[in-house]
Amino acid sequence: MTRRDAPVSPPVVLTIAGSDSGGGAGIQADLKTIEAGGAFGTTAITSVTAQNTTGVESTHVLPTDEIDAQCDAVVSDFDVAAVKTGMLATAEVVELVADRVRAVAAPAVVDPVMVAASGDRLLASEAESAYEALIAEATLVTPNADEAAVLTGIDPDSESEAREAGERLVELGADAALVKGGHIADGESADVLDVLVTADGVETFRHPRVDTDATHGSGCTLSSAIATRLAHGDDVEAAVAAGVDLLARAVRYNLDMGEGPGAVHHAV
Ligand code: PLP
Repeated sequence: MTRRDAPVSPPVVLTIAGSDSGGGAGIQADLKTIEAGGAFGTTAITSVTAQNTTGVESTHVLPTDEIDAQCDAVVSDFDVAAVKTGMLATAEVVELVADRVRAVAAPAVVDPVMVAASGDRLLASEAESAYEALIAEATLVTPNADEAAVLTGIDPDSESEAREAGERLVELGADAALVKGGHIADGESADVLDVLVTADGVETFRHPRVDTDATHGSGCTLSSAIATRLAHGDDVEAAVAAGVDLLARAVRYNLDMGEGPGAVHHAV
């Protein structure tokens, strides 16, 4: 076959995360989101989960040297334009990834995945404190309210507490923090609030709450969408605004798959 068009070189995003055999979250959600956003997805798989919409059946964490080898293979060949981290499973993996992110000269979005929506743990509890080293390397850290509470000691039930938690994460060394409001009440309003704290100030994003339990993969999709925009050259504020907007649509057009709660739509 004769090639008629010039080859294209989309920006490369590296996702360091776990595999979800059910395809709704993890590496699978990341790749679908990255490709839909016009970037090229590469991966370092930290763990393999056997799961579907009803929950996680088992988890196998890869040896750290295998995770390191995947990172090496990608960064030695590709010009990585953004990194995104998801399920890291153990303290050793969190520490390894902190070293890796420090060495890559590209923006890094850290989604501090701890527990799946099904309630299954995706991070050993003794690994929670190891996150400080990775947060210090993050361009943006994207905790939900529960993760923000673990990382900062502040349980954000309101917009002002979300702001406080975000400011604490910036004090810990992240350039910016997006405290996600799936759980944050906004008085009488049915809106979901996401609070972005940067060195320049605070910005709150609001969108109407969608009445659905099909939110599997929402954190992965949001952090990947933001990393994809950063890879295209957006600044953090613009990338977050685009990511929050995309996720609102992804939840609205969620997928009814399997017997359990479905997943968000990754390619909206
Ligand atoms: N990574 C993996 C491998 C998962 O299985 C999950 C949830 O089940 C997550 C990350 C986090 O998913 P979410 O995007 O719903 O926070």
